[in-house]
Amino acid sequence: MSLQLSKRHEWVMQSEIRNMSIECDKVGGINLSQGVCDTEVPVVVRRAAQGAMDDGWNTYTRYDGIDELRAAIAWKQKMITGMEVDPEREVVVSAGATGALFCACLALLNPGDEVILFEPFYGYHLQTLVATEAVPVYARMRPPKWSFRQEDLEAVVTPRTRGIVICTPSNPCGKVFSRDELQIVADFAEKHDLFVFTDEIYEHFIYDGLKHTPPATLPGMKARTITVSGLSKTFSITGWRIGYCICDPRWTQAIGFFSDLVYVCAPAPLQKGVAQGLKELGRGYYEKLGIKYQDKRDRICSALFRAGFTPHVPMGAYYILADISRLPGSNSKEKAMNLLKNTRVACVPGEAFYHDRSGENLARFCFAKEDSVLDEACRRIESLS
Ligand code: PLP
Repeated sequence: MSLQLSKRHEWVMQSEIRNMSIECDKVGGINLSQGVCDTEVPVVVRRAAQGAMDDGWNTYTRYDGIDELRAAIAWKQKMITGMEVDPEREVVVSAGATGALFCACLALLNPGDEVILFEPFYGYHLQTLVATEAVPVYARMRPPKWSFRQEDLEAVVTPRTRGIVICTPSNPCGKVFSRDELQIVADFAEKHDLFVFTDEIYEHFIYDGLKHTPPATLPGMKARTITVSGLSKTFSITGWRIGYCICDPRWTQAIGFFSDLVYVCAPAPLQKGVAQGLKELGRGYYEKLGIKYQDKRDRICSALFRAGFTPHVPMGAYYILADISRLPGSNSKEKAMNLLKNTRVACVPGEAFYHDRSGENLARFCFAKEDSVLDEACRRIESLS
């Protein structure tokens, strides 16, 4: 038999995040590797989805989402960020933020187009670019503030550059881009005529009184920005697969057609549940999320400090990059496996977030866990001190 896997499959690797989850399951450990929040789903969201199933919302919906959900997304975006969004023409609901970004890349990039990724990056961003035949190039952010300069961007831009990805708040480093930093990216994007793909899935996970600024709200940015987000994290529904993008009507139809081609639509009753949640849960719900997760962040940061794994304290999102150089092992994978073996706590090796070996002394810990689970993980980490 001469059948073979496609060439494309070689470009896409099983993510290290999933690999560590598998290793964690083997030893019955606490999984701080994957960003699966096991915190409670808001009752209103659950009830509305259950009710929708009972009421017959079980068939295909409009390819870009039900009216009620697109309207709720536009309303919430205006309420929280002041951004005017036309729910009929500027919103595409898809299978999670992941599906929305994938479809946006399919719709807007040609094979060989270069796209700048800030590094450390989220592996799915890299793999999405690669799988859609775009070419990632890297702009390094430097601790402690994960800062960058316009020259870093100018150093990697070429005539083939077509876009730049901003993840704010960032997975994995927790950076929240300031308005000034976003202005640098905006000027750069305008100068080189680039798409700006944002991933704002952690928009409500912000600490220490900081504020999330959607890049599309900077002057002149709306037309070139593809704002990607979703409810997986905000409502703790990672398995529901509801996300969306907001962008100029010139782009939405093609993005929606790709989403139709791959997913047909997002799950109908779950769209209803999310729409109801967006309508009923006000600003207070989102603010409480920030407070709750800041407390979780502080607990695990203390444990990491005490264990000698100096953490880069995140400004947002729910991950911590920490220095695990003191563990035995010649690279971050071996060190992470050593930690799993000795504590049964799984983290993600830092090399998963860099295109070179820069992450070899780092690991990422996810703190989206119920307090009792997190406390047990902290106890085990501290036992190494
Ligand atoms: N974007 C980022 C930055 C993430 O960290 C994750 C999950 O870990 C996702 C997107 C996934 O979002 P969704 O579940 O909406 O596809």
